[in-house]
Amino acid sequence: MDARPWDVRTVKRCDAPTCRKFVPVGRLMCPTHWYRVSADTRARVWNAWRAIGEKLQGADPDKLQVYLAAVDRAKMEAAA
Ligand SMILES: [Zn+2]
Repeated sequence: MDARPWDVRTVKRCDAPTCRKFVPVGRLMCPTHWYRVSADTRARVWNAWRAIGEKLQGADPDKLQVYLAAVDRAKMEAAA
């Protein structure tokens, strides 16, 4: 019997506040929330994500700061 409904290695929760949907690891949000975020902010998130090598661990601190700021902005826009 597998108590886990999903695999943490491949799936995570949508980062939009209050959203409970699952998304693949490497995606920030479910499509519903992601497309509420402006194209400008989506581009910022993607560019910053690529700049840190698409992972948080071992990221350059300055680039990580830029990424986290973009994510915060995306979360605000998704919740609006
Ligand atoms: Zn969502």
